[in-house]
Amino acid sequence: MKNETKNCQNCKKDFVIEQEDFSFYEKIKVPPPTFCPECRTVRRLCWRNEMSLFKIKCDAPGHDEMLISFLHPEEKLVVYDSSAWWSDSWDALSYGKEYDFSKPFFEQWKNLRDNIPLQALSNIHATNSDYCNVAEESRESYMCSGSWKIERTFYSNRISETKDSGDLYVVFRSELCYDDVICSDSYHLLYSFNCKSCVDSYFLYDCIGCMNCFGCSNLRSKSHCMWNEQLSREEYNRRLAEYDLKDYKTILELKKKFREMYMKSLHRFAVQIKVVNSTGDNLEGTKNCKIFFDATQKIEDAKYSHWLKENVKDAYDSGPGIGQAELIYEVFDTGVGNFCNLFTSVVYSSNDVEYSFNCHGCSNLFGCIGVRNKKYCILNREYTKEEYEKLVPKIKKQMEEVPYIDKRGIIYKYGEFFPAEFSTFCYNETQAQDYFPISKEQAMKMGYRWRDRKKNEYQTTIESKDLPDSLDDVDDSITKEIIGCENKEKQSNYCRGAYKITIDELNLYRKLGVPLPRLCFFCRHENRLKMRNPMKLWHRQCMCDRMGHLHGEEKCEVGFKTSYAPDRPEIVYCEKCYQQEVY
Ligand SMILES: [Zn+2]
Ligand SMILES: [Zn+2]
Ligand SMILES: [Zn+2]
Ligand SMILES: [Zn+2]
Repeated sequence: MKNETKNCQNCKKDFVIEQEDFSFYEKIKVPPPTFCPECRTVRRLCWRNEMSLFKIKCDAPGHDEMLISFLHPEEKLVVYDSSAWWSDSWDALSYGKEYDFSKPFFEQWKNLRDNIPLQALSNIHATNSDYCNVAEESRESYMCSGSWKIERTFYSNRISETKDSGDLYVVFRSELCYDDVICSDSYHLLYSFNCKSCVDSYFLYDCIGCMNCFGCSNLRSKSHCMWNEQLSREEYNRRLAEYDLKDYKTILELKKKFREMYMKSLHRFAVQIKVVNSTGDNLEGTKNCKIFFDATQKIEDAKYSHWLKENVKDAYDSGPGIGQAELIYEVFDTGVGNFCNLFTSVVYSSNDVEYSFNCHGCSNLFGCIGVRNKKYCILNREYTKEEYEKLVPKIKKQMEEVPYIDKRGIIYKYGEFFPAEFSTFCYNETQAQDYFPISKEQAMKMGYRWRDRKKNEYQTTIESKDLPDSLDDVDDSITKEIIGCENKEKQSNYCRGAYKITIDELNLYRKLGVPLPRLCFFCRHENRLKMRNPMKLWHRQCMCDRMGHLHGEEKCEVGFKTSYAPDRPEIVYCEKCYQQEVY
């Protein structure tokens, strides 16, 4: 089969389905997609709300307490607190319905979804971590999301195996870290971006294996460097002591200087460590992965995916939140011993599951929600193996003949992920807004739902500009204040207007010696998001014209796929030229 150009149903732009893509679709027996890769990612992300939380009443029988939930009360869903949802007090199969061949599948699935109990927050094995969402194994943590195995960590997104840290974004296996973006295996690393295995350091960009370094970029295995100058240990300590790192204005100045240093640094076309035949960014240990972002530890033969971790094979259009899975397509938050799952979310330890949400320990499900340890179910109704095997092909055929058509005229047959308009979330409440930000007007035009945030929900007791500059002048009484965010008057999709400092958070600031933040968590998260490159690739050429490289006196002409858009000001090098300068 040859490459084929198709027109995307959603954005109406042309996209190419490659030969290898057709082979994958044939292997899993799905028709080729009708949405382009980016629109497919956006459609999945419209179903993924990691950070927008609301107050909602618990609907579990005998409960009427208020809960923190990622589901908005206006959605009128049935919401149970986590312990009630995970208990045996309700039976998911009692909500089962016989398949109605006169109605589109997606409508019938939505009807089930609108009536069955849903978990208030998406978390598994949480200990004293009430505000952690899309989180597995959180302990004593607060406002973390997209996380796995975290302890005493605050205000962070997309992190795993971290302890005693705060304000992180895409950080793995780290401790005592603060305000870092895309870092791993570090200890006491602050205000840094794209670093690995660094210790007791501040304001580093693209450093590996550094210790006691400050304001440096493109360094490997160095210590006592400041603004890329090698110092003696005594001189380093003397100069470090000159910075009052507990002072807010000092940090603000240093962040400015860090930004200037970043702009002057060399930028490798992509961050790829131990990568074979792969395209994308922030990859470690991937083989044959194309158009791939934020993936680590043995990922093989996969395409159009992001935020994957540990032993994933044969995956298309997967993520965020995938680990230990094989043969998956159009899934997110799915894994831990999964095989052959298509169109799923929060499906764990299961195989041969299609179009299902929040199912655990199952096999052979189609269109199910909240089912645990069952086999051969369709729309939460149990069948014999023989009945199931007869019914599923009939349903797939019916999905062709009686497709769901959304209000923009987009046709959803078998092979499409769930329509975004059926999502329990609005566009601006989901990770679609984090990775593909659009305005309310654009969202309306594309038929995405949008929910304006309520302004002035909080009565602030202090403005952030009136906070003490130095952490030394802050006492425990700050935890009683409602602080007005510095951005609260600005037009922002993120700003919540106000924020609080919890005692655990304050103690972490004291331990790390950092000043109080002046922005609410969501504005801080937005600033960190802006540091990363988008999950898109452009074809570009190396910008190197240095002498003594393989390209001799000529400018280097090596081409590559990079997440640095062509109009960006950074100096972007190919692998060879970068390696010649940074080692
Ligand atoms: Zn498209
Ligand atoms: Zn804010
Ligand atoms: Zn080059
Ligand atoms: Zn060069």
